Amino acid sequence: MQFSMIDWPPYVLTAIHMLAAAGFDCWAVGGCVRDLALGKVPHDWDLTTDALPDQTAKVFSAFRQVHAGIRHGTVGVLIDGKMLEITTYRIDGDYRDVRHPESVAFTRSLSEDLARRDFTVNAIALHPETELFDPFHGMDDLQKGILRAVGEPEKRMKEDALRILRGLRFLARFGFSPDPDTDKAMRECKEELRNISAERIFTELDGMLVGKEVREVLEKYPDILSVVIPEIAPCVGFLQHTPYHIYDVWGHIAASVEAIAPEPVLRWTMLLHDIGKPERFRLDEKGVGHFKGHALTSADKAETILTRLRCPGAMKKKIVALIRWHDTTIPPEKPVIRRWLSELGIDTMRCLIQVRQADNLAKNRALSARRLEQAEQLSVLIEEVVSENPCLSLGQLAVKGSELGLPPGPEIGNILRSLLDEVIDGTLPNEKETLIAEAERLHKKITNPYEFDRKTDV
Ligand code: ATP
Ligand code: MG
Repeated sequence: MQFSMIDWPPYVLTAIHMLAAAGFDCWAVGGCVRDLALGKVPHDWDLTTDALPDQTAKVFSAFRQVHAGIRHGTVGVLIDGKMLEITTYRIDGDYRDVRHPESVAFTRSLSEDLARRDFTVNAIALHPETELFDPFHGMDDLQKGILRAVGEPEKRMKEDALRILRGLRFLARFGFSPDPDTDKAMRECKEELRNISAERIFTELDGMLVGKEVREVLEKYPDILSVVIPEIAPCVGFLQHTPYHIYDVWGHIAASVEAIAPEPVLRWTMLLHDIGKPERFRLDEKGVGHFKGHALTSADKAETILTRLRCPGAMKKKIVALIRWHDTTIPPEKPVIRRWLSELGIDTMRCLIQVRQADNLAKNRALSARRLEQAEQLSVLIEEVVSENPCLSLGQLAVKGSELGLPPGPEIGNILRSLLDEVIDGTLPNEKETLIAEAERLHKKITNPYEFDRKTDV
């Protein structure tokens, strides 16, 4: 990598030059340097400086600033509409518990700051003129594709167990191999993850799941993952005893995660879609395994797991629905499809197709070909139905409750619901006149059932 060729964003250069003019050193560090060296465009730039936070604040006094992280040495500065985090060189002090450093000590030494960072590939500093400062040989590790803790791996993982999951995330994202001592330390310190907050665990797992090498990480580290999601442990090595499967439950899960697009909702769905299987296992008299009801059990477990991990509500709801219905047969008929679309929404239905495809791609392909074909047909039919712009909700009905000409009352809502059901089933067109006439008929049926029966019987 030719670092002299880098296009430094002007706002980053402005910050570095302003600090230099005030007599301070300032370097780009962490993820942005790593990503540049990998030939990727950094998603954000982190700067590190020997200026103390109040000195940084003073240098940028003409700019808008965010001081939320100032106790940890970070000053956010808004330059050219971009937020840049500038952090004072830091040594993390004695550790009170595995996540919260008791104290933050600032230092004048860039090496000391780099020494506190998690992995060598994240401990490289880059300057637009001076080029690289890489005391832990992160560039070598980047070139070899090795993830190695800075310093003594076990001590570093114990200090902050979040690094274990950060490690899994980087392995999944970059396809690196772990250095053996780092790998050992990550595994040996895994119990320390119990002290890490659910939100942070969720964020790291979320990042890991969308990584291109996630399957390998899932296959290699069920021991670590079972600490943060204990429901995983029973799936590992659980044989399915059915010709439809070629992997144990965990192997199937890992393969299915890889088989779906790298969207968090989809990846979480596959991770948890069969998590209830061990609990539902029954062996029949022929020695064939069955998992009746596993989708419901998995959905329940997923709900518990995602609640525990503080997954945002809307995301959780979607994942749980996808798991709940991942295995249910949907007859390829338009009224049925409209009903499903009305219940789940178009987006979730499209996701459901992807889930079925990924699920079947991770099975015995010779036997799952038919299921894959069915999913494809269903997908075509769904798109056909969607293109017809069908009425799927009360808001899309051609009449409003107030237009029915009926006396106001609680039954209006029920009547509208019935009209919608009939429109979805295709037994009634979504036309104002027809809907009003049907509403009248239904109203009579409710208010005067005897009269109604007599009239309709003749
Ligand atoms: P990403 O591309 O995901 O943002 P990143 O490496 O930039 O990856 P950040 O969480 O943004 O990750 O952290 C920035 C830098 O701070 C890291 O590169 C690393 O040097 C350091 N760092 C972050 N978290 C830790 C930690 N828990 N322990 C040690 N160093 C850390
Ligand atoms: Mg970053």
